[in-house]
Amino acid sequence: MPDLYDILGVSRDASPDEVKRAYRKKARESHPDAGGDEDTFKQVTHAYQVLSDPQKRARYDRFGDDGTPGTRGGDPFGGFSGGAGFGGIGDVIDAFFGTAFGGGQGGGARQGRTPPGRDVLVPTELTLEEVASGVRRPVEVEVATTCDLCGGSGSSTGGGSTRCRTCGGSGQVQRIVRTAFGQLATASGCPDCGGTGSVVEDPCRGCAGEGRRVSKRTITVEIPAGVAEGDRLRVSGAGEAGRHGAPAGDLYVEVQVAEHEIFKRDGRDLWAEVSVPFVQAALGTTLKVPLVDGGTEPVDIPGGSQPGDVIRVRRAGLPPRGGGNRGDLHLRIQVEVPKELDSEQRELLHRFAELRGEDVPEEGRGLFNRLREAFR
Ligand SMILES: [Zn+2]
Ligand SMILES: [Zn+2]
Repeated sequence: MPDLYDILGVSRDASPDEVKRAYRKKARESHPDAGGDEDTFKQVTHAYQVLSDPQKRARYDRFGDDGTPGTRGGDPFGGFSGGAGFGGIGDVIDAFFGTAFGGGQGGGARQGRTPPGRDVLVPTELTLEEVASGVRRPVEVEVATTCDLCGGSGSSTGGGSTRCRTCGGSGQVQRIVRTAFGQLATASGCPDCGGTGSVVEDPCRGCAGEGRRVSKRTITVEIPAGVAEGDRLRVSGAGEAGRHGAPAGDLYVEVQVAEHEIFKRDGRDLWAEVSVPFVQAALGTTLKVPLVDGGTEPVDIPGGSQPGDVIRVRRAGLPPRGGGNRGDLHLRIQVEVPKELDSEQRELLHRFAELRGEDVPEEGRGLFNRLREAFR
């Protein structure tokens, strides 16, 4: 039996990276589909299988090799279920073509290991008041969760699972395809075990052996103050349960903020329009302004305020996410001009205009009449 380090052409203290690089090079040279020698290819593959796994490599360094190329039965650390880092032909194809070929599924590290459940995204809408204060929000999630009948094992008798016979536990079935470059072996997910490499004995009636089933759950999420539209809060492990008790995915709660009838948001600042009657704008006044926290705050409007003037109320905006000073509230002044005046009010305004030397048509005489008089 030749030395495994010699087969790959690396030193005994080669790093995992060096081992991998050497394997890719040798596998490329010796792959039967590329015109190489099949026995050499098997030896190279076996050497990599041992030397790329820290446990197996340590054992090999101490005790030598008791496995033979192409067989895995005699190796207590072997088989695919342990996640040994070697995945059959799919891995070799990765070595040839990189990840562009076959995607992540062909990657050796994943094979024979049940993938975790998927992440789940749930939107939730907050009012601006809730953004200001932070809120505990119950979120309804309809997602596969661990089956309570079998506790996630998928087996009704607790018998566990055995290696899938169709794919031999690799989770993949191989196919030979002809291409312009010659024949190529490709791997795709095994239909019998769904790519997990194992099948359940005595499948549970609650989940048909999946170990999980879809149910509706309500999860209460702590949403901090200051979140913004599109922010995502992660609830670790609250996503889809994995098959056969594999780890669950995560739940992401995506924040949407409802339009507010008074306030517009600009980061942590708020903007609002305030209507001020024209006399008050001229003379100055104090207005009660509503706050996003509830309640009101008296705000001084200085005399002579113009339409469009902006008054800043410090720290009456929103808190930033993660703490810090609140933003400001900006009040943009709109001046209200009265639409209906009684005769006494009209008189007063005329008197006012006179005092200011402003030319105002007299009561009952419009601009047209005055122009006619002026040119007579
Ligand atoms: Zn079950
Ligand atoms: Zn299978």
